[in-house]
Amino acid sequence: MEKAISTISRTLEILDKYDLRPQKKYGQNFLVDPNIVEKIASLSADKDHISLEIGPGIGSLTEMLAKYSKKVIAFEIDDRLIPVLKDDLAHLDNVEIINQDFLNVDLNTLSFKDEIINVAANLPYYVTTPILFKLFESDLKIAKISVMVQKEVADRFKAKVNDEDYNALSVIVNYLYDVHVLTQVPASVFYPRPRVDSTVITFVPKVERDKEFEKKFFKLVKLSFTQRRKTLYNNLRTEYSSELVEDMLKQLDMKTSIRAQELSLDDFMKIYEVLNA
Ligand code: SAM
Repeated sequence: MEKAISTISRTLEILDKYDLRPQKKYGQNFLVDPNIVEKIASLSADKDHISLEIGPGIGSLTEMLAKYSKKVIAFEIDDRLIPVLKDDLAHLDNVEIINQDFLNVDLNTLSFKDEIINVAANLPYYVTTPILFKLFESDLKIAKISVMVQKEVADRFKAKVNDEDYNALSVIVNYLYDVHVLTQVPASVFYPRPRVDSTVITFVPKVERDKEFEKKFFKLVKLSFTQRRKTLYNNLRTEYSSELVEDMLKQLDMKTSIRAQELSLDDFMKIYEVLNA
């Protein structure tokens, strides 16, 4: 049996065979540790569901996801890698490769839009946030999103009240998902080796989606954080009357000097309720 794609020898052999050099502009750092790849695949996928992979590269994670999923559908932006993926994974009958920038995919047209899916991605850092937001805002039936991010980005997603990194995104993500750290991944298991360590985090949905409510609630959260140094009162006053904001603060027993970064998700829910009563 052939060695896993994620062994360093097989990765180098594939790159050599196709005369490929990892492209910086696409953030190509390939995982070259079969144990870590198998761990990520086994924890992010399950046999009853499709895995949606974004950025399969030369197929190291795709190969393992195929073992742990009903089917893998992978979107890769770099057309040089499509023949490589089709060749490397030809022996697997549950893998579909699509050559497209995931940011341009119309998610409403996908064949699996009504099926429950798991998402797995090891992405370049500069597209992680837009891709996550595309998934967060979609109507896809996602059971779990597992994504490899720079360690600092993971910390931001897990920021708590009063942390320096705590912002509107933390509150919104906290409302929608339970965020867990799946595993830490040292820079040494990538080829080429990046400068920073990574973390695989998972987002597990925890609420029934209500688009109408979310639109208004997220707007309120973003408004509250508009100017970090300003008080909640001053940020809210740009949209609500002073009387209404003062009354809300009084009802909730909050000081006029309170700032958004001191407020938990629960506090924001209460504020929303009072302002929209
Ligand atoms: N999954 C492979 C692994 O773990 O070894 C490759 C990971 S590499 C960090 C990121 C991959 O995402 C590259 O293959 C890159 O070409 C692809 N990629 C980057 N931007 C993308 C986008 N917008 N849509 C789809 N794929 C993208």
